[in-house]
Amino acid sequence: MVLRLLRYEFYCYLRVVILSGKQLSDNIKAQLAKEVATFPEKYGRVPHLAVVLVGDDPASATYVRSKGKACDLIGIQNTTIHLPQDTSEESLLEQIRLLNEDEGVDGILVQLPLPDHIDEMKALYAIAREKDVDGFHPENVAALWRRRTEPEDNPKYSVPCTPRGIIRLLKAADVEIEGKRAVVVGRSNIVGLPVAKLLLNENATVTICHSHTKDLGSITKEADILVVAVGEAGTVREGMVKPGAVVIDVGINRGQDGKLHGDVDFEGVKDIASVITPVPGGVGPMTICSLMENTVDCFINRQ
Ligand code: NDP
Repeated sequence: MVLRLLRYEFYCYLRVVILSGKQLSDNIKAQLAKEVATFPEKYGRVPHLAVVLVGDDPASATYVRSKGKACDLIGIQNTTIHLPQDTSEESLLEQIRLLNEDEGVDGILVQLPLPDHIDEMKALYAIAREKDVDGFHPENVAALWRRRTEPEDNPKYSVPCTPRGIIRLLKAADVEIEGKRAVVVGRSNIVGLPVAKLLLNENATVTICHSHTKDLGSITKEADILVVAVGEAGTVREGMVKPGAVVIDVGINRGQDGKLHGDVDFEGVKDIASVITPVPGGVGPMTICSLMENTVDCFINRQ
């Protein structure tokens, strides 16, 4: 049934399945829109996401706009609070405090990166746990590392959006995770570590690699499921992937050609993998879709 949600793109000369996160996220957003449409009658209002953007970083502004568009599509009320680049840490913390106290706000997202003079951790930790749609609050992080269930079973604690979207994508494609050898390249708090824990929760045997890993290719080649979140185009190439592996490319890198490239050399690896996500159109859309799900979860938890 879940398979029907997903559009497979088969290339006749290859057996690889190109996993479209865009199509899956469109389907999930359509479902969410139906659910949210029932909220005014059930709860008297719709969820409200507040996004705080500090400064004028063009990439951040683009991300914030696409989050707003997704909210509009689903019927989630959204407010962007745009603060100037020279906003002091105190002013930002005060803004977050006001949003924490605002009963009409269900989710708060502080767009990263913040200007250098603001302590990112201080800002993220200031967000009330029950409004933390990014899953970065220490209590949400602790819940992820202690529990063995997935977000759908326990939506009380938010899970970071990209990892949540990756697991959703794997499940929608009917990829068996239990008992498989999973290798995650990258150990960031946003992607690498939480996705490794979610894969562990699904009973995969997980190895985490990073910039000090020796002979990366020999480890990635053991993976049945390979997740790459490094931030360097072409980190994983032909010869580093086991035939038939499922390859999830998280990376978003702007090439000299002006186009977006993943961390995986797509052309070289697509003939070896059984399933691969494209960039763009793979993991990226799932991240926004998970943000919408986290916002709805926060709203429901607060009712
Ligand atoms: P970080 O920079 O926080 O982490 C990168 C990780 O990669 C680090 O753990 C680093 O190791 C490791 N690393 C760096 N170079 C190598 C190497 N040569 N071999 C092995 N490991 C290496 O990045 P993020 O996790 O935040 O993001 C990773 C990528 O994913 C970026 O391109 C980002 O734009 C993208 N991204 C995409 C999202 C989406 O929705 N599609 C969402 C979030 C991120 P060490 O810890 O030792 O430094």
